Parts: sequence; structure tokens; C-alpha cells
Amino acid sequence: MKITEIEIFDIHCPKRPAWSPVFVRIHTDEGIHGVGEAGLAYDLGHSAAAHMIQEFAQEMLIGFNPFQSEKLWHKMLRESFWGLGGGPVVYSAISAIDTALWDIKGKALNLPVYQLLGGKTNKKLRTYASQLQFDWDGFTRKTLFKPEDYAKATEKAVNEGYDAVKVDPMMFDDKGDTIYDCTLPFRRHHLNLIRQRLQAIRDVLGDNGDIIFECHSLPGLTSALQLGEIAEKFNCLYFEEPVNYLNSKLHEPLKQKLNVPIAAGERLYLRHGVREYIEKQTVDILQPDIGLCGGLTEAKKICDYADMYDVKIQAHVCGGPVATAASLHLETAITNFIIHEHHTYALKDFNRELCIEDPQPVNGFFEVSDKPGIGIELNDKIVNRSPKVVVK
Ligand code: MG
Repeated sequence: MKITEIEIFDIHCPKRPAWSPVFVRIHTDEGIHGVGEAGLAYDLGHSAAAHMIQEFAQEMLIGFNPFQSEKLWHKMLRESFWGLGGGPVVYSAISAIDTALWDIKGKALNLPVYQLLGGKTNKKLRTYASQLQFDWDGFTRKTLFKPEDYAKATEKAVNEGYDAVKVDPMMFDDKGDTIYDCTLPFRRHHLNLIRQRLQAIRDVLGDNGDIIFECHSLPGLTSALQLGEIAEKFNCLYFEEPVNYLNSKLHEPLKQKLNVPIAAGERLYLRHGVREYIEKQTVDILQPDIGLCGGLTEAKKICDYADMYDVKIQAHVCGGPVATAASLHLETAITNFIIHEHHTYALKDFNRELCIEDPQPVNGFFEVSDKPGIGIELNDKIVNRSPKVVVK
């Protein structure tokens, strides 16, 4: 089997301009194709990922046998020059291409990809409603700032069967303005507002539900400790991205001082990037993004490596439906899965219309598709409206 053509889609969503999933579709001489997604759908960088995929396609994909995915993975890492240094542009491109190769392999063998990764370890995947500060429904993204609105968003998730939610309770101030610089210690009134929002969520969820406390890597060490103490008091399932990854040492005092599990990993790449956090055991839950960490090839290795240190896995999923589909195969196969992330953007029609299949959980649980490959196809009617490049 040989790769004959590569299509790259840099999706523009007119209803949500800052939402730009990047898809690749790789065709072969046997009429089988596979799809993959780069993990830069939000904020900045998507067009760089699309161009990087195009360069890989032009330089090393045409004529290559997709079954040699391991060989191609190493070729992309070593022969791109920049792959040996790192960063989201090169690695998201490698990830998208790698995922598409696994899709091709599954389709050629008439097997779902989880079967190629070791089979079904987890039949049902417990799922949480992610990023409640933007509300929980199919409508345009909102900005919630009153505690009672956090209660209402939680109620919507609970009514759909979820018993776990994630929230960034500090992102908006009491007027709904976004706080980007959280490196200074928080003032008491803002800490009180965070507590009120979490209490509103806890009151709806009850004692048995789980809250994940999201920080988006924005706090400094002192403000992260302030927030971590609140996460402890509310018995959060975990405290996510309390600090940035630019200095890995920042995680060490957090781990020593806080009595709440710490999660991180969506901005780490390859086994090499997670190594220090796993070996020093400064994260309890690792959150690799299949569209960034090196695709399914590398994600499976990262999960197994983490398992050796009893680190649990929640794949980071904030992208188009292809990212969701690929993550479900990984999470179905691994032994250290903890919970699946379903983002509020995954509920929006501008995202759901991008693929023929529309993966959504039922009663707070996902089950992986049994279709061959990763079980998802682009919706040509929609994706062809966006800028597209074809390499032959
Ligand atoms: Mg996150």
C-alpha cells in the first residue's frame, strides 16, 4: 500500500472565528483513506500546523507505506530538523499524520483502532462536562460570572447524566471580564468569589459528584497555592495545570504542599516532555493530547510509561470530532484511564457538523465506535468550505 494524496483542511468556523480545527486526510493507492487532527484548534497556531502538515506531505509522505507508521514517525522527527527540538507546530503536524495512518491501518485490517492498541480494557468511559465557566449547552460560548449561573450550568450537565464537571472558577471577575494575569496573589474578594462558584456547583452535584479545578497554567506559584487550598477544601478530583511548564521545578513545591491530586500535560510533547513530571511524580493525572503529543503511536507509549509510576490518564480533548474519536480508542485500550473530557465546544453545532459521525456521550459515559479505523469521516459538504490544500 502506498500514500498517493494528502488533503489538509484549515477549518474556519464563521460562527466562532477563534475555532479552527486542522484535519488531514491521507489517501492510498488501495482506495483506503485515513483522517487525523492537529491539536491546535483554539487560540493561535492552527495555520502553522496546517502548513507544517503540508511540508511533511510534500517532503516525505507520497509513496510511503502507511503500515510503516513507526518508521515514518521517526523520519518526521529526525528529518524535519526542528522535530529534535520540539514545540506544538512540528508535533501537532506529526500527530495529525500519525493518527491518519492508524485510521488507514484499521480500515485495511477491518478492525477498530483500539483492537490494534491492545483491545478493550475499558468498555464504558466515564466522562465529565468540561469548562462550565462557558456554560453547558449547544449555544454560543457564554461568560458565566454569577455563582447562580455556575449552579445552572451544573444542573444542565447533571440532567444529561454527568456526575463530574470541570470548571475554571477564576477566569472571569465579578463583572465577567477575563483575567489573564493570575501570577499575582489573588485578593480576598476574588478568592471568595471562587469559593462561592465552587459551592454553587457542589450544592447541585452533591457529595458524590466530582469537580475538576482548572487553572489553564496561568497562576504563579503563590496564587496556585491559594487556589490549591480551595481545591483541597472542596475535595476536588484534581487540580489541573496550576502553573506553567516553562520551569518544571514549579510543580515540586505544589506537590509537596498540597493535598489534592495534580493534573497536567496538555502542553507537553512526546515521552521526553513528560519524563520529568512522571519520574519526579509531580503529576498524579497526565493529560496528553493525541493531536499534540505525537499521535496515537506516541500517546500509547506515554500512557504505558505513566502507568509504571501509577500516574493516571485523562486525554486532553479540545478539538474537532476527529480528536474525540481518536481519544476514545486510546482511552478504551489503556490500563490507567481515569475519565474522559467532553468540552463545551464539543456540544456546538459549528463543531458537530464537521464530521459525518457526531460522537457524544450517553448518560455521562462514552463507548468507542466499532467501525474500522477510528470510526469517523469528515463531512465534505462543510469542510470543503474552508481553505484546503491538496498534495499529490
Ligand atoms: Mg485544561
